[in-house]
Amino acid sequence: MQVNEVTAYLSLGSNLGNRLEMLHDALKLLHAHGQVSVTKVSPVYQTAAWGKSAQPDFYNCAARISTSLAPEALLDVLLATERALGRERLERWGPRLIDLDLLFWDNVQLTTNRLVVPHPELHRRRFVLLPLADIAPQLIHPGEKQTIAQLAANCSDPLAVTLLPETVFPNT
Ligand code: ATP
Ligand code: CA
Ligand code: CA
Repeated sequence: MQVNEVTAYLSLGSNLGNRLEMLHDALKLLHAHGQVSVTKVSPVYQTAAWGKSAQPDFYNCAARISTSLAPEALLDVLLATERALGRERLERWGPRLIDLDLLFWDNVQLTTNRLVVPHPELHRRRFVLLPLADIAPQLIHPGEKQTIAQLAANCSDPLAVTLLPETVFPNT
């Protein structure tokens, strides 16, 4: 890792099209960006759709990256990657080909018009915490002051989250 790089964590989700391929392609595009390296990826989990329920199940995973991008610049790369993969913003919480959320950027806490970091819902969502706990169990949430493993163990989210056998990206 270069001196100007930080570690960040992402949550990836897809519930339309070839869901595994969407996760894989998103990671490939991000890794191809000159200022982003994907350094670790969790297994894939399947989750009943959150929000509007009459839609296909989600496939979710978490990724650790190393990046020299500032938080909002990284958000722009995530949104551009969603667009490159064909995501159209139709309805909030409706089905989507790909959703890329920034969970943590170093241990920074930041709120702007466009970005809240750590992601404000992450500690309430089992489909985020389980894959994240696979790759960063000891990471401490700077707001909640608990590790990801503790947050996952204490999470009361009722949605079932099932581990799938498939992997989407080689770990480095
Ligand atoms: P949620 O954020 O509750 O998971 P969502 O992912 O469905 O909802 P989107 O429609 O994908 O929401 O994104 C709406 C906006 O959220 C984005 O355009 C972005 O500006 C903003 N946003 C704020 N904080 C974050 C974050 N940590 N990661 C990604 N987007 C964020
Ligand atoms: Ca999301
Ligand atoms: Ca999002």
